[in-house]
Amino acid sequence: MGKQTKYIFITGGVVSGLGKGIAGSSIGTILKSAGKSVFMQKQDPYLNVDPGTMNPVEHGEVYVTADGGETDLDLGHYERFIDTNLTKTSSFSAGKIYWEVINDERKGKYKGQTVQTIPHITEKIIEKIYACSNNNEVDFVIVEIGGTIGDIESQPFIEAIRQIKSRLPEENTLFVHVALLTYLNVTGEFKTKPIQHSVKEMLSHGIQPDILVARCDVDAPVPPNITRKISNLCNLKPEEVIIGANEASIYDVPLALHRQNIHEVISEKMNVNLKPNLKDWIEASEKKKNSTNKVTISLVGKYVDLQDAYLSVSESLKISGIWNSAQIKINWINSRKLTATNIDEQLSGSDGILVPGGFGIDGVEGKVLAAGYARENKIPYLGICLGMQIACIEFARNVLGHKDANSSEFDLDSQNQVIHLIEGNNKDQLGGTLRLGEYETTIVKGTKAEKLYGSKAIERHRHRYEFNNKYRDEFESAGMKISGVYKKDDLVEIVEITDHPFFIAAQYHPEFTSRLSKPNPLFDGFIKAIISIK
Ligand code: GLN
Repeated sequence: MGKQTKYIFITGGVVSGLGKGIAGSSIGTILKSAGKSVFMQKQDPYLNVDPGTMNPVEHGEVYVTADGGETDLDLGHYERFIDTNLTKTSSFSAGKIYWEVINDERKGKYKGQTVQTIPHITEKIIEKIYACSNNNEVDFVIVEIGGTIGDIESQPFIEAIRQIKSRLPEENTLFVHVALLTYLNVTGEFKTKPIQHSVKEMLSHGIQPDILVARCDVDAPVPPNITRKISNLCNLKPEEVIIGANEASIYDVPLALHRQNIHEVISEKMNVNLKPNLKDWIEASEKKKNSTNKVTISLVGKYVDLQDAYLSVSESLKISGIWNSAQIKINWINSRKLTATNIDEQLSGSDGILVPGGFGIDGVEGKVLAAGYARENKIPYLGICLGMQIACIEFARNVLGHKDANSSEFDLDSQNQVIHLIEGNNKDQLGGTLRLGEYETTIVKGTKAEKLYGSKAIERHRHRYEFNNKYRDEFESAGMKISGVYKKDDLVEIVEITDHPFFIAAQYHPEFTSRLSKPNPLFDGFIKAIISIK
């Protein structure tokens, strides 16, 4: 028999938001560092078909995979941790599953059978999980089930993973349950009852967790008798109970799990011999502890009330900070409230200014002001997607003198649409019309971009509008250089201001390719430039 992929399922108990994604990614990191190939998948029990059109304020950022999947932000953690490009297969929602099953039904695929949650929905879920194994090429697939055990909508997912367990050899599946270990301040005691209840709930679905991560949100040390109590009452050995304490950084979690020998439990239960080597992670942790430079970056966006809307951007800054021995402080600036009158007070303390991606006219003028402030005051600027379009609009208005310059996304009457829709992009439909996923940028010789990337950059996109090529010469002669292009369709990918310490903006999203072990070149260059002039 050939190789058979092993599956690790991550479920959550007691409350949501415990960091199941980080726990799963950390396990993935440990496996990867032991030389295993790892693929990850997130299943979300909500009914939206994909997160593409979900409000970032409610749901956090939309993470884009190399193949153009618009996915849940947890995939960003997965990729930053395990350093593997995931795909559209890595994320699906209940909405997508039901949609596919109903479409199959309409096409007559079920030949008149009654279509039901079990077996039709569960079989579809199982098919999606098996698809991750790439015909058993991958050593481990880690599947995170969103939500909390006991939720009505997650039941078909739990049933599907139970069935997988019953179909595969014992050593090929492992269940990790991440549940909240509560602490009562009044009595100063840890309480294990909610964990017991959530394991009981798992058992009622026919699943005994193999490992329990007791996630504890207080800084008091968890006494050994609590671990014993959990293990005793949840049918586990003490070494199968892992304490998930708050760490200084999420990038310390693989080290914390490794210290508690989670790899030995996995090795034994899954019949493998894991010898993890977390060298990069130890080095990053040490560097972080000893970082001396303090860097303040103003992130000017409209969703700053929910910082998860910019999760990959802030993690990319942190990762570049770690390797450049810098402690990054993000100054969250609401672009809707930024005006010519308050800009000095809001931005004067910034070592760098970053305008991230965004959609819609709301808050755009505040971002234009921020780009202008960075340009004039020679403060390092990194523009991402909308942040690049904004930089071009600002330059066209205030350097080229086209006072009404704009993007056709915001002003259809402008005579100077320096950013516009190009033919073939559909104006009327919201879903599915974006330029999505990975494209290769050819870098122009002699530019700052070349110093950072070399001759090409492969980065991910998620946008509809493009730089208007009619203005290229005018921009270049006035000092804004086109430093990267997508050759095939002659699209501008990177612009930079020559006479400036660091003013670079890209039409793509560099934040989606940062890895703990490999910071993205644009973010790295941005932080290095800041440190060099500080
Ligand atoms: N709204 C702009 C566009 O569609 C920018 C998108 C983005 O920043 N992701 O082109």
